[in-house]
Amino acid sequence: MMEKIRAFARWMMIDPRHPEIAQAQYNELKTQIPSLYALLMVNAIAVSYTHYDVAPTYLTVGILGPILVLTTFRLVAWIRAGAKTPGPDEAIRKMRQTVILGSIVAAIYITWSLSLDTFGGPSERGHVALFIAITVMGCIFCLMHLPQAALMVMLIVTIPYLVHYLSQNQDVYIAIALNIFLVCVVILQVLFTAYNGFCKLIRSQSELAAKQKETQRLSAENARLAETDALTDLPNRRYFFNRLEGLIRDVADRDGVFAVGVIDLDRFKPINDTYGHQLGDQLLSEVGNRLKLMDLQDVEICRLGGDEFGFLYMGALEDAAETGKQICRIISDPYHIGALQVSVGASCGIAYYPEAGKTAHSLFDRSDYALYNSKTTIRGSTTVYSSEHEARIRSERAIESALQSADLTREFQVFFQPVVSLPARVIVGFEALARWTSPVLGKVSPDEFIPIAERTGLIHRLTIALFCKAVDQINALPGGLSLAFNLSAQDITSDATVTELLNIIRQKEVDPRRITFEITETSVIGSYETAEGCLRLLREAGVKLALDDFGTGYSSLGYLHRLPIDCVKIDRSFVAGIKDPVASGVVTSILNLCRSMQLQCVVEGVEELHQLDLLEAMQCKFVQGYHFGLPLPFETVLREAASGEHVSGLPLAHTDAAIRQIRSRA
Ligand code: C2E
Ligand code: CA
Ligand code: CA
Repeated sequence: MMEKIRAFARWMMIDPRHPEIAQAQYNELKTQIPSLYALLMVNAIAVSYTHYDVAPTYLTVGILGPILVLTTFRLVAWIRAGAKTPGPDEAIRKMRQTVILGSIVAAIYITWSLSLDTFGGPSERGHVALFIAITVMGCIFCLMHLPQAALMVMLIVTIPYLVHYLSQNQDVYIAIALNIFLVCVVILQVLFTAYNGFCKLIRSQSELAAKQKETQRLSAENARLAETDALTDLPNRRYFFNRLEGLIRDVADRDGVFAVGVIDLDRFKPINDTYGHQLGDQLLSEVGNRLKLMDLQDVEICRLGGDEFGFLYMGALEDAAETGKQICRIISDPYHIGALQVSVGASCGIAYYPEAGKTAHSLFDRSDYALYNSKTTIRGSTTVYSSEHEARIRSERAIESALQSADLTREFQVFFQPVVSLPARVIVGFEALARWTSPVLGKVSPDEFIPIAERTGLIHRLTIALFCKAVDQINALPGGLSLAFNLSAQDITSDATVTELLNIIRQKEVDPRRITFEITETSVIGSYETAEGCLRLLREAGVKLALDDFGTGYSSLGYLHRLPIDCVKIDRSFVAGIKDPVASGVVTSILNLCRSMQLQCVVEGVEELHQLDLLEAMQCKFVQGYHFGLPLPFETVLREAASGEHVSGLPLAHTDAAIRQIRSRA
């Protein structure tokens, strides 16, 4: 019981536990209260008017005046309140006020009405009864969204009304009073039902709104996660491309510019391979933290996957490269992970919109090309995509398409460069060098077409076609001469190519000991395991292996030791600067190293006599170079050998029987 009373009291004081209902209630109420006051005013004027002659003036005009002032005052206040939407606390406070003020106004009205009832004849008294009845019902209706006030008004008005008429013992008035009381009770009941319905509606609306808000929050969170990289918490590749496309749309209409950058970590793979993926992941997440902390203006940095990051730069284009450099610098500072200190570098490529491209795809491609340029020229540098790159791409595309449709046996030739033995200065063999004369492009250098053949997968067919030619041709020369043949990274990691090469050696009956395959360190580095297996296979078949371009790559002693090689070829750049004590020192040490490891050593790029003399003094055993002439087509080699037993002015290391053999063939 006490609990019920307490609940009722709480309800009467407008329960603050349901702020959303209170607010909705107030919003409805404020539109209806002005009608209530207007009704009160009109009714009061009417009843004063009919009683003007029969009642004392202080009761009619005298009281009407202050009532009208008070009512007008409240009416204006509510009309003003209509424009505002107060918060729930304010709404509750105002409604509490309304309950109290409503009760006071009801008390004033009923006292006034009943005191008027003592004056006038039956029709004036009838007017009072009617006035009270319609006014109270009107008020209750207007207060339908504040049932607390409606209840108070009903009780304050109808009970004294009933008591007043009951005490007078007049059947008609008693009947009217009882009637009005009952009608008011029924109205109030209907009103409560409607009010409960209203509360339910508001509650379900607010629940729905809360659910919608939650759904919105969840979908926003999902969208954020779908565009966030889990490891670094940076925006991911999907975000990068969405944003890039959005930027293109935004700036396309207003001739705007921006830059796209791609950053790739240098030396990340060896770190990952050496210390494991877990450390690799930690390192990437540290990189991500640094990039987030940078907080650069007009820059958005994303992780594109693996050790690749991308950024969009919306500032002044002339500062874009500086931003790329800054990011690379920050990445390159050493990292302390556990007890370990590791360092990675970072290279960057940048492309400008719309100069480099107008679609997300082309812009990304161009910045990637610029990055490739940084990686292959100066690691750790930043390259901005330029018209020069554009021209290169175009010519690469032309080479690619000519290569795709080339007739490998007819368009390609093998040229021969003598390998000269010192101090005898006789030719002991030849290096086979590919030459291509395309019917579309004319002469194309191997430095251009070999990388493209490698990239497009054409290298396997090309290698086989060239090797067939080279073996046929060396077979036509005196028996003892050796053949050096260059292999690509793809060749030495392909079982099929290696097997095919060995088949050719077998079929063409060439002594495998006369063949040397030249490989570079970089071609082995990418996939050491596969390459090593293939190289051993070749070695077991009796062919020799040479490490080409030694001194330009990592030149690691580890590789010299681990790879099954027989020969080292010192890169021509050392001979070019051999006058310099540092370069000559390097050549001497490599020669000594080879001697102690019992490896053959060939020095490439001998162009001048003084270089040859110097190398001879260093006890270098084998040389190659333009000093003895340019690489020659096979026909020239064969003709020279047959006529003078010399090629490029040098005698061939041969036997008389061998010379007779070539003479008969020529
Ligand atoms: P490489 O294997 O280092 O070949 C030596 C390159 O240096 C040849 O260029 C040769 O013409 C050039 N050369 C020789 N002596 C001198 C000299 O005294 N001074 C100067 N400046 N250069 C000299 P080429 O023929 O243009 O070949 C370039 C590269 O293309 C080769 O470098 C090799 O890596 C590749 N290559 C050539 N033919 C083939 C092939 O059949 N297969 C593969 N996979 N690569 C090949
Ligand atoms: Ca070579
Ligand atoms: Ca070389």
